[in-house]
Amino acid sequence: MPARCRTSDAQPPPALIQVDLDAVWAVREVYGLSTSEPDRKTDPVYHDALPAFLDLFEEYGVRATFFAVGMDAEDEGKAARLRQAVEAGHEVANHSYTHQIGLGALPSDDIDAEISQAQQCLERATGTTPVGFRSPGYDASPAVLQAVGRAGLLYDASMLPTYLGPALRAVSRKLSQHGKAGGGRGHYGQGSWRAPRHPYFADPDRPWKPAVENGIPELPVSVTRRFRAPFHASVGMVLGTTWTARTLRAFRREGTPLIYLLHGVDLCSPRSLTDLAKGRLGRRLFGRGIEEKRSFVRTVLEYVSKEFEPSRSVDYIHANMPVCCSVGRAGMPQAG
Ligand SMILES: [Zn+2]
Repeated sequence: MPARCRTSDAQPPPALIQVDLDAVWAVREVYGLSTSEPDRKTDPVYHDALPAFLDLFEEYGVRATFFAVGMDAEDEGKAARLRQAVEAGHEVANHSYTHQIGLGALPSDDIDAEISQAQQCLERATGTTPVGFRSPGYDASPAVLQAVGRAGLLYDASMLPTYLGPALRAVSRKLSQHGKAGGGRGHYGQGSWRAPRHPYFADPDRPWKPAVENGIPELPVSVTRRFRAPFHASVGMVLGTTWTARTLRAFRREGTPLIYLLHGVDLCSPRSLTDLAKGRLGRRLFGRGIEEKRSFVRTVLEYVSKEFEPSRSVDYIHANMPVCCSVGRAGMPQAG
């Protein structure tokens, strides 16, 4: 068990640890790779990575938020894993029903169905009602935020306020078998670089803008201050633990909430990821050994548990962005 003494007496800022449970089939679809039906059931994200996350979170006293795809929760084996997460005190939130990249380009009825079907599947699987949503591929477009409002959810977490959207789309195209990213411009958001780097009430018609009234609580994935590089585990594993530790210290000094995102594949053995972990880029993104991946996640959790106040996203929202209303209802309190 790591020591818990803090290096500063100042009130520690909150840290929201979030895990996108994109199963391997979902990651493969993002990159245009096919998946067999049996592979959808025996997914290493649910059967290896999720238990490993639960063990590490317990060790470091962290309660986290898992964003799960509705279709996965229809499988009893995966549903049982999600129940374990809830029983351990974690939150399960909505990551759409089919994990379709480019959600915001669909007709509004289809976006509503993606959210409501996932709600039903996750409720059935866990016995709890999800209150948060993250769209696949960080698509924080107006159509998505408006649908989150119609669904009456408490918060959205789709925003990735980075300058690097075009570069990240190019990486996706390079990894994609078909040479093009699945979601076009919606992938990694449109205009997201203009959004605040900290939680805010988003205008559903212009999600990058803080709302004057009737906004939706938005929890943007953390990006670095100057260059707005995405500060999540996939990038951290490429840029290394020294960069990650330095950036964690910068967030601690800044004192704003850290919203740190991990993915299921971050704790999967490269062998279980087969051809995803091949090629120069695939090896860098997915191909590290499981011990190296686990050690990286430990480094982050050890620092966060000492220097921040880890919190589930739903608890942060209740404590800091109390919502008496979603879009269309008057009298929404605004962030101070
Ligand atoms: Zn995803």
